[in-house]
Amino acid sequence: MANVKTPPPIKRYDISDRVALQASVRPFERDPHAPLVRPLRIYTLDPSVSDRLGGVATVFVPYEKLAPGPVGSLFKVSWEGAPAPLKAEPLNLDDPDLLLSSGLAPTPANGRFHLQMVYAVCSLTYAAFKRALGRDIAWATAPPAGEPLRLVVRPFGFPGPNAGYSREAGDLSFGYFKARREPAGFVVPEGLICTALSHDVVAHETTHALLDGLRTSFMDPTNVDVPAFHEGFSDIVALFLHFTYADVVEKAIREAGGSLTRASLLSDLAREFGYARSKSARAAALRSGVDLDGVAGFDSDALPSKDNRPKCYDPDLEPHALGSVLVSAVFEAFTTIVRRKTERFFRIAGLDPQAPGRVPLNDALVKAIAQEAGDVAGQFLNICIRAIDYCPPADMELGEYLRALITADGDLEKSDKWGFREALMRSFRRRHIFPDHVKFMTEDAVRWQSPDSTLRVQGLAFRKLRFDGEPGRPADATELRRQARALGNFVTDPKHARVFQLVAPGAPLPKGVTQASPPLVQSVRVTRRAAPDGRILFDLVGEVTQSCTIQREGELFDMNGGCTVVIDPQGQVRYGIYKRFTSESRRARQHAAMRGPLKAFWKRSGRRFLLQPEMLRRLHALE
Ligand SMILES: [Zn+2]
Repeated sequence: MANVKTPPPIKRYDISDRVALQASVRPFERDPHAPLVRPLRIYTLDPSVSDRLGGVATVFVPYEKLAPGPVGSLFKVSWEGAPAPLKAEPLNLDDPDLLLSSGLAPTPANGRFHLQMVYAVCSLTYAAFKRALGRDIAWATAPPAGEPLRLVVRPFGFPGPNAGYSREAGDLSFGYFKARREPAGFVVPEGLICTALSHDVVAHETTHALLDGLRTSFMDPTNVDVPAFHEGFSDIVALFLHFTYADVVEKAIREAGGSLTRASLLSDLAREFGYARSKSARAAALRSGVDLDGVAGFDSDALPSKDNRPKCYDPDLEPHALGSVLVSAVFEAFTTIVRRKTERFFRIAGLDPQAPGRVPLNDALVKAIAQEAGDVAGQFLNICIRAIDYCPPADMELGEYLRALITADGDLEKSDKWGFREALMRSFRRRHIFPDHVKFMTEDAVRWQSPDSTLRVQGLAFRKLRFDGEPGRPADATELRRQARALGNFVTDPKHARVFQLVAPGAPLPKGVTQASPPLVQSVRVTRRAAPDGRILFDLVGEVTQSCTIQREGELFDMNGGCTVVIDPQGQVRYGIYKRFTSESRRARQHAAMRGPLKAFWKRSGRRFLLQPEMLRRLHALE
């Protein structure tokens, strides 16, 4: 009798190496006698901003023991490559003299201070994400053998007016360059400008790295919104971090007579960088959070009119410009809430609430407005970061970010007394950023819908999860792989195909799809968020991606899809946020973008489009 071989079982899904990375980030374990924070002096904006305006502050970085570099548990700062006349050598921030003096005094002339600046700002940006999500955030790069997972930071990265994060190199690299012969502002003609000394540039690049750790497929530019989102989101984080510096906020608010939209010190991004490249008569920061000249119209509640027309969503815009539309939408909602919350202060002071910008304010009023602006900025920063857990895993659209923001905030804060969500929806609407398939700009229509039926993932209820001491930290890589298998088995079960919209291996392919790779479980992570009323909410967020080859008009390309699954502590699926392969409009959009605005990111090999590596380097080169 002939030997009949049974075919190998079809693989239902794969597990990405990224799943286990979550266990390889191990922030410093504090012993009970160690201090909580390390005070360090830094530039709050950049060296061009006078100390009188709060240009220097002492910040409190979460304490960790540091080796010379500084090298900590998350970042490894490299001293190499300092351009003349700067000199640098490894900086030992644990030196008792430096511990007593809150680090080195800020000066662009001391190369070692550059190391302190990047270490502090990278650490503070990381801390903002950790605070919002209640867990450690893993970098997207694999650690070198036998070493912990750390991001390398190069303040003297390369000559040139730019900076960049590279997943391939596992680093943040900051450029330096000579200012113009007649630059704007107080920038020294032909002086040395180091992007590592710009708070905004460092926070922006660190955010790129954190976002890549959270959503790795956001580095695949499958539609114009994807690179625009990476840019816009990184600017949003940098902008809201301005408001953590009380001195800067107070002084800017005093100068602007209480109007946040006039406080360009707060709404400008990378001012020195922009001034160094501007002609003296045309001083402009690199970017700004305010997109209207008539600042009175920069308000979520303003009706768009002939004289009040913010820059609108347009898929033909260059990615940074398109990202700025998103930044302005979020920043406008923020300034609207601050206005709503501070109107009562003006009334108490006997001033017209419409007065901002027109009358000088007394100190107590400035302090009260600044305090409120700082608190609201902190809340916005949390909402913006938390929304990432509610984004689809790939092919992100700006309208979907609005849905993620509204759902993330609505899950935590039911009442919305001050209208945070209404302001966000209005400001997105004012800029024509609409989510697909949403017929009304109302909260119930915009938020993601829960599945119709009750779905429970037995293996992912919190009582089944193993942690390392606290729920923000998984036990180990083995436990993470077990969770990934539980998720993979559940989402690829043919019974749930409609909920998660994955193409099951072995199943007939949808029309126009020539090949489907097995679904890939990218991550399973706990999220722990503190609501404004003090409640702590836990969820588990899983990310599954899939790639399909599409044939369209005789050409071939890969399309990304998949689903984000949000699961409650009982194991019940709260949301399945998916990207379908059957959507003809999605196919057409990607096909058009690869031939048009995203041409720089794709190359052709015969009839096939192939993705080029290093999206961010290409993206920053467009600037
Ligand atoms: Zn960028």
